[in-house]
Amino acid sequence: MDNKDMIALLKDTAKLLELHGANPFQVRHYTKAAVGLEKIGQEVGGLSREALHKIAGLQPSTGKFIQEINTTGTLQRWEELTATTPQGVREMLALRGLGPKKVRVIWSTLGIESLPELLRACEEGRIAQLPGFGQKTQETIQASLAFREKQADKFHYASALPYATDLEKQLRQAFPALLISLTGALRRKMEVVERVEGLIGTEQVHTVFHWLDQQSMLQKEDKLSGPFAWRGQFVEHALKLTVLFCKPKEFYKQLILQTGSKAHLALFVGEGKQLGEVLDSIMEPLSEAEVYEQAKLPYIPPELREGQIELTWAREKGNPRLLEMKDLRGVFHSHTTYSDGKHSLAEMARYCRDLGYEYIGITDHSQRAVYAGGLTPAAIQQQHEEIDHLNKELAPFKIFKGIESDVLADGDLDYSDEVLARFDFVISSVHTGMNMDQKKATERIIKAIRNPYTTMLAHLTNRLLLKREGFPVDYRAVIDACADQGVVIEINANPWRLELDWRWVAYALSKKVWISVNPDAHDKESIQNMYYGVCVGRKGGLTQPNTFNA
Ligand SMILES: [Zn+2]
Ligand SMILES: [Zn+2]
Repeated sequence: MDNKDMIALLKDTAKLLELHGANPFQVRHYTKAAVGLEKIGQEVGGLSREALHKIAGLQPSTGKFIQEINTTGTLQRWEELTATTPQGVREMLALRGLGPKKVRVIWSTLGIESLPELLRACEEGRIAQLPGFGQKTQETIQASLAFREKQADKFHYASALPYATDLEKQLRQAFPALLISLTGALRRKMEVVERVEGLIGTEQVHTVFHWLDQQSMLQKEDKLSGPFAWRGQFVEHALKLTVLFCKPKEFYKQLILQTGSKAHLALFVGEGKQLGEVLDSIMEPLSEAEVYEQAKLPYIPPELREGQIELTWAREKGNPRLLEMKDLRGVFHSHTTYSDGKHSLAEMARYCRDLGYEYIGITDHSQRAVYAGGLTPAAIQQQHEEIDHLNKELAPFKIFKGIESDVLADGDLDYSDEVLARFDFVISSVHTGMNMDQKKATERIIKAIRNPYTTMLAHLTNRLLLKREGFPVDYRAVIDACADQGVVIEINANPWRLELDWRWVAYALSKKVWISVNPDAHDKESIQNMYYGVCVGRKGGLTQPNTFNA
């Protein structure tokens, strides 16, 4: 088991203990172990007792849990707790607005053991009447249930992509002459996808079809498949897969049909004509570009085919080259062991340098973020001394002194001006108070933008894709304020966040706001998430000259 899974197991045990009303010391025992393990910069899976003893900073009590996991593959306490907790109750624990204590009340007082029962109780107003709940909590629970329903069976772009590229690679190896491409939302680099979709142009449909049938990682749904459509799923995670087949001469027309959103395809249709007629009139094209040309449209890259900004981008802006990974020169927004990061300042800096970047901006959490080991002014002093030292050693590579400052409920930043003045740059972030209404939330964030020390605005609504909706905000007002104050807006490249949402990137660019693609890395490997941020930027028409770190 890797550290991440161990931490999840420890945290889950703590939650379940709380749910079952265990004494707080027991709960803390597991929470502390999880937090302790988060700080360890090396994988501990499979390590012997002696090796665990040698790890600096690892508490003996945490070591004991790790040892148990290493020998048994689980925690006995967790096994006992899950055996006595209905699945539906465990699902409640994952809902926003519900902690273990509240779930315990719902379970023990109303006897509710499943999400449908919980929904019914909300609709009947029974949750609001529970002691310590009220109308607002009930509404939050209902909203979380609705959100969960909407997100079922969906995948982050970054989780679906490896399956798609792997399958494509294997197909190319097996059939080198095949015309093959991803299609659909995944090809358009949507932040969340429901399935992997692909198109194959071949005269030998039967052979390729049969090959797909034979793959042990795939499972066909016979009822959904037809002679030119293989439908089924990747066995792992039940990720859905659709592969369509066509004749090679139809490939590029089909590719356009199977990639663009409805709104994009509407661009092909002239007065009184159907899409089919337009495409029929196009002679056997040898590329997608030819199809666009024959349809008298400018070529549109796949990720822009949303029917939103592509024509303006192509016609008025003259088809500017979209941002690429190679344009990025440095990295802002990264965490170290000074707060809740996994790797040390030096490790983060060296890794970043070895990836070919020219600089890294270190931004640990600020003091109010106690849950994430936020920095006291004394710790800041210590970090700055270490940065000065490393900057001499690593030159010309440069480390910038930054901070991810919490935006407090009233819109103030988390340090005095005197402390804020010591940083090269300040990223302002909302992490708490997610339940504010749109007006209050917008005022709060605009106040933070107007703070003269704010350089950059992080993950605008603090959403977690497929897990938590962001807080409501007036995007236009926030972007206008950034334009007014010269504040940079981040595209957070963490696959769970990916905001500024691409749907607002073009508006920000029209207001001449700088965009920075930031990894928000909590370990060194996550610096490579920059790729997903570039995808989001491209979807919004982002180019190198508009990118702060390019
Ligand atoms: Zn943050
Ligand atoms: Zn962060």
